[in-house]
Amino acid sequence: MPHEIPAVPADVSAAGAGRFAPSPSGELHVGNLRTALLAWLFARSTGRDFVLRVEDLDRARAGAEAAQLRDLAAVGLDWDGEVIRQSDRTPVYLEAIQRLREDGRVYECFCTRSEIADAPRAPHSPPGAYPGTCRNLSEAERERRRRERPPALRLRSEVTEYTIHDVLHGDYTGVVDDLVLLRNDGVPPYNLAVVVDDAAQGINQVVRGDDLLSSTPRQAYLASLLGLPPVDYVHVQLVLGRTGKRLAKRDGAVTLGGLADLGISARDATAMILGSLDLPGTLPEALAVFDPAKLPLHPWVFEPPGR
Ligand code: GLU
Repeated sequence: MPHEIPAVPADVSAAGAGRFAPSPSGELHVGNLRTALLAWLFARSTGRDFVLRVEDLDRARAGAEAAQLRDLAAVGLDWDGEVIRQSDRTPVYLEAIQRLREDGRVYECFCTRSEIADAPRAPHSPPGAYPGTCRNLSEAERERRRRERPPALRLRSEVTEYTIHDVLHGDYTGVVDDLVLLRNDGVPPYNLAVVVDDAAQGINQVVRGDDLLSSTPRQAYLASLLGLPPVDYVHVQLVLGRTGKRLAKRDGAVTLGGLADLGISARDATAMILGSLDLPGTLPEALAVFDPAKLPLHPWVFEPPGR
């Protein structure tokens, strides 16, 4: 049965919108919640709408979406309009790929992961970048390879790097390679979906963890090819665990549920997270004084209580 694609709100605020876009792979931890609170503060302090998007194209676990929405509400966040779910929107992604195809910017790729890893590279080609193996196959060769495995689709990129501006990081230049536009199992990858959805949801401010900064040049380049408007980027620091690595479930009581078991309420957890940003302990108070220039520059190490 065909999915009905949720209508995208036509009534986004004139200032645009910010967003939080979690992957429903499990419960949100303190680090995810801190990024969500920051995204909300950046959006609301600039008069923007704030929207949610569930990025469930690959890492979806049953029940995680509901738990995430519950915890976002529990720390005091509110959002505008319907929550968009990426798994409902495949036709929209395919349409974007079709546009690129019509511009001659798409080619079929038959490489396996190990073929990519083992392929010879140009001396200065950046690590992890696709080496271009399938870029110039003949039609006869493609015809032969199609019988062996279904192709992925890749972007025929005309640049090898691209510069974006980030509110906290300044200008940032990063690698752009022939990124995947459609996996060979027919699923659109994150880099395409995020670009299409941000534009469709009227998002002009992207606040997210700085682990995604290096993906941003690819996304911004793709957006430019699709004629989509540029957005403001804010890549915020990830919360660290006691070991100095990014906070993770193995660090102990890091979710609202885990903290509640230790007698720490969602309200106290919110105050703790806001405190780590040098902000007062409730969201309305934090919003009243929020100033990106005053955010702490050092990372926050979260030591879960009771360990
Ligand atoms: N869904 C991604 C994640 O949870 C975030 C994507 C984004 O904010 O652009 O890591």
